[in-house]
Amino acid sequence: MAEILCDKCVALCCRYFALPLENPRSAADFDHIRWYLCHENVIVFVEEGQWYLGILNRCKHLLPDNRCEIYEHRPRICRGYSTKSCEYHSTDYGYDHLFTSAHDLVVHAEEVLSKRAGRRVKLPLQPKKMRLRKKTKNGRLAGVMLPVMS
Ligand code: SF4
Ligand code: SF4
Repeated sequence: MAEILCDKCVALCCRYFALPLENPRSAADFDHIRWYLCHENVIVFVEEGQWYLGILNRCKHLLPDNRCEIYEHRPRICRGYSTKSCEYHSTDYGYDHLFTSAHDLVVHAEEVLSKRAGRRVKLPLQPKKMRLRKKTKNGRLAGVMLPVMS
């Protein structure tokens, strides 16, 4: 059954990997996760209360026909993967939350932190203006545009 299912699939499970994150508690924690989401091909999701960083990047051993180039020697994590609840069954993977942009995370973080604080919490996360650092004598900040955080 597993082989039949995988034969029909475009190897969805070989196109990303995910690592557990420390669950965010503070505004600083959320801002750290926002930084991850500022990068291309990164998602963050929460599953059964645990936060994960997802890197959307195909495995180097995935062949053009969606088969594994090193099938006989594939890593243990690949061997242990089950087709029972894999990505093939649905694009809605049953996440508690899925964040594909920094903006979505900020909205969620403000909601969670406001609820906990019992007042409206705004995260001071967005750069208010860009300041041009002028060339210094030692050249350390020569011509660098730096965001000024509030
Ligand atoms: S996502 Fe599921 S069906 Fe597709 S290759 Fe992976 S285990 Fe097989
Ligand atoms: S090693 Fe093979 S089974 Fe494992 S992720 Fe890569 S292509 Fe998929």
